[in-house]
Amino acid sequence: MHRPAFSLEVFPPRRHAPIGTIYDTLDGLEDVDPDFISVTYGTGRSADRTATLRIARTIHDEYRIPVVAHLTAQYLDRNQADETLDAFEAAGVHAVLALRGDRDPDRPPTDVFAHASDLTAYIADTHPDMTIYGACYPECHPQSKNRKDDIGALKLKVDAGAKRLISQLFYDDDDFLSFLEIARASGIAVPIEAGIMSVTDAAQVGRMVRLCSSRVPRSLSRILERWGDDPSALREAGIIYASQQITDLVAQGVDGIHLYTMNRPAITRRIWANTRGLFATGTNAID
Ligand code: FAD
Repeated sequence: MHRPAFSLEVFPPRRHAPIGTIYDTLDGLEDVDPDFISVTYGTGRSADRTATLRIARTIHDEYRIPVVAHLTAQYLDRNQADETLDAFEAAGVHAVLALRGDRDPDRPPTDVFAHASDLTAYIADTHPDMTIYGACYPECHPQSKNRKDDIGALKLKVDAGAKRLISQLFYDDDDFLSFLEIARASGIAVPIEAGIMSVTDAAQVGRMVRLCSSRVPRSLSRILERWGDDPSALREAGIIYASQQITDLVAQGVDGIHLYTMNRPAITRRIWANTRGLFATGTNAID
């Protein structure tokens, strides 16, 4: 029977937080058995861009878990891309999530890599041993004019060399499943992991609606209405809601689940405890 992959995302600690706090996150995830952990890459002017490399190396060397390093393209030139990719490879990191990155209205992009597909093609050409991942958007990227353009851009990314896709978070499984149907009908055949983030507070949902245009289905808005002012009850409801989403998606035969941990291992452990029996684990099923 087809068994889905299970993966996690962590992010580098904020610039002025001690880098060592990532150990609290990683130690806290020790009982979870992901196929890989991905590490985000800061786009902001003040982001410490060496942090992704250092954390990816730590996960590879000390935790012995396959790792995917994110890399955002829009402020890079070719030399910087080469330096970063060479450093990833030297650290034993052989998988990269190639992204454009969010636009900073006060900072013009270098335009060397205008889209994620440009970086993807560059990596495929210059670093052929890297496995390239790409991002996808079940509810369309907010800058896409329509679904057709969005899927067209995704197809370019896959044709340029992305071997696996990870989706933006979504709260309604039907949105992901109908996206999946359109992607497959458009000839996108690579595995696509569904991105899930547990709801922790009402402000977090508001941010996701604002930044990612995420749709909040009635079942989730009822939860927010009932427990929006009760953080611990909302946290519990969020864990149950995310576990139900995962159960439904795995039952529908998805390729994998990518859990946005928000560096909150206690929540991740609870979701894992609820759903672990649904996953093939410890087999490094990713090729
Ligand atoms: P692209 O694939 O380039 O798409 C961006 C927009 O351009 C879309 O509207 C697309 O349709 C359009 N487009 C793409 N190619 C073309 C083309 N050839 N012609 C015309 N239009 C085109 N951000 C970070 O800063 N750091 C991270 O670590 C990070 N990790 C992420 C992980 C995941 C799984 C996801 C889903 C997102 C992540 N992001 C991260 C956010 C991401 O950088 C933003 O969503 C960004 O706005 C788009 O990046 P992208 O790689 O999807 O861009």
